[in-house]
Amino acid sequence: MAKHIFVTGGVVSSLGKGLTSASVGMLLERRGLRVRMQKLDPYINVDPGTMSPYQHGEVYVLDDGAETDLDLGHYERFTNSKLTRDSNYTTGKIYQSVINKERRGEFLGKTVQVIPHITNEIKECIAKLATDDVDIVITEIGGTVGDIESQPFLEAIRQFSLDVGKENCVYIHLTLVPYLKAAGELKTKPTQHSVGQLRQIGIQPDILICRTERTISREDREKIALFCNLSFDSVIEEKDKDFSIYEVPLSLHTSGLDAAIVRRLGLQTRPPQVDDWKDLLHRLRNPQHEISIAVVGKYAEHRDAYKSIYESLDHAGMHHHAQVRVQRIQAELVETEGPERLLSGFDGVLIPGGFGERGIEGKVEAIRFARERNIPFFGICLGMQCAVIEFARNVVHLENAHSTEFSKDTPHPVVCMLDEQKTITDLGGTMRLGAYEASLDPTSRAAACYGSTTISERHRHRYEFNNVYRQQFAAHGLLFAGTSPDGSLVEIVELPSHPWFLAVQFHPEFKSKPIKAQPLFAGFIGAAIERKQARAERAVETG
Ligand code: GLN
Repeated sequence: MAKHIFVTGGVVSSLGKGLTSASVGMLLERRGLRVRMQKLDPYINVDPGTMSPYQHGEVYVLDDGAETDLDLGHYERFTNSKLTRDSNYTTGKIYQSVINKERRGEFLGKTVQVIPHITNEIKECIAKLATDDVDIVITEIGGTVGDIESQPFLEAIRQFSLDVGKENCVYIHLTLVPYLKAAGELKTKPTQHSVGQLRQIGIQPDILICRTERTISREDREKIALFCNLSFDSVIEEKDKDFSIYEVPLSLHTSGLDAAIVRRLGLQTRPPQVDDWKDLLHRLRNPQHEISIAVVGKYAEHRDAYKSIYESLDHAGMHHHAQVRVQRIQAELVETEGPERLLSGFDGVLIPGGFGERGIEGKVEAIRFARERNIPFFGICLGMQCAVIEFARNVVHLENAHSTEFSKDTPHPVVCMLDEQKTITDLGGTMRLGAYEASLDPTSRAAACYGSTTISERHRHRYEFNNVYRQQFAAHGLLFAGTSPDGSLVEIVELPSHPWFLAVQFHPEFKSKPIKAQPLFAGFIGAAIERKQARAERAVETG
């Protein structure tokens, strides 16, 4: 029977609960256990698909097309847990299901209530993951203990241990132990209060993970253990990492976290095998190259809006023993200041996906600059659509060519909506979503990167390349390097005459892992390194 781990958070938000949960998953998996991961989010949106990435960070898309919280990206990057739409539930999704059951008369005339109906629904969502092929289910509860909206979730996980047996459940609580400069010491009171709140609702945490800037002394750990009703070795320190998030699992291991979990669950396992991860960190610490990449997007201020893209660039850097310095550039600035001033000096330009018109012309200008100056260019989703617009206007000379997303009456709709998408008015989950296969031209750079002519990548978009223009574009030198297997949808475009100019309609960033960089990201970073080296050689020659 599968065992359950519940991860809650206290004191403040943004403690890195997702990363900590992913690290727990990774350490247990590397002890030989089969892990499945899940996040329960207390907000009312049915899924994050309609939430602004500026507010909520990126929407992470799974193979099955589920639009999920970005923490699931950490789960996939750190573990092999199979994620599906059952891996992320929100209050909205839970209530929607309960209300649908009520409308169908499934509650047989009873009054439908938070306890037991909502809590039962939540418990079902947790139990569903505990299939025969799984040893451990890790359920992360979003939000902070004490929030009104997380109460039904906490009540459900409290009840859960009564259903499956206390010995089969571990409650991990992540808290903050802040350092007070004025007092010159770490403060344990917020942690005591947060655990107090959990105990009030009937949950005694088994393990406490304490986020801290400074090393927690033995006395402080003893104090936390005593006040929170825990044994000393169940109080685990998680010190801030300013170097890389990929340090977190190994440092939690050193602090004794995975040992404490298996001890609590009475499991006999081997120690975690983490040599490849150590090698990864070694590469990260000892880069042989350093390159700079400009990411020209709608949002420059918010790192989480393109989270998986930045992670993928890091993975590709590790693959090539290179440090990738990313500069976030707001597309609108390219419009006012010009690409020359903002983009000269970068070894590569990447345009990420997005929605809405803001900054589109800046993206198009940035692409023109990269194309004309032979700077490696990688376009993703909206980035591909902008590359198509740029090529149409400046190479094929189709004046005012545009996407119908931004100009309904453009004379040259080179990017447009598929007929079957046109009647949709509801915004949630109405896009081409999830994994689709594509066939690659064997002579293409994409095929060389993948080492294959059949691939599968995840999508999230409504608009597509307009096939009416295919022949005309090909005649001007654009290679349709990848299409849907039936040839009807364009998935990848390339410029064979350019050192590295490639754009994709899908989101390759959702399948990159630190241990296994996504092939197109690896190709892009490889090209950026080559460009930098060639420029350095030229500089030496010309003295
Ligand atoms: N807005 C574009 C579309 O819907 C691109 C979407 C994206 O980049 N994810 O097709």
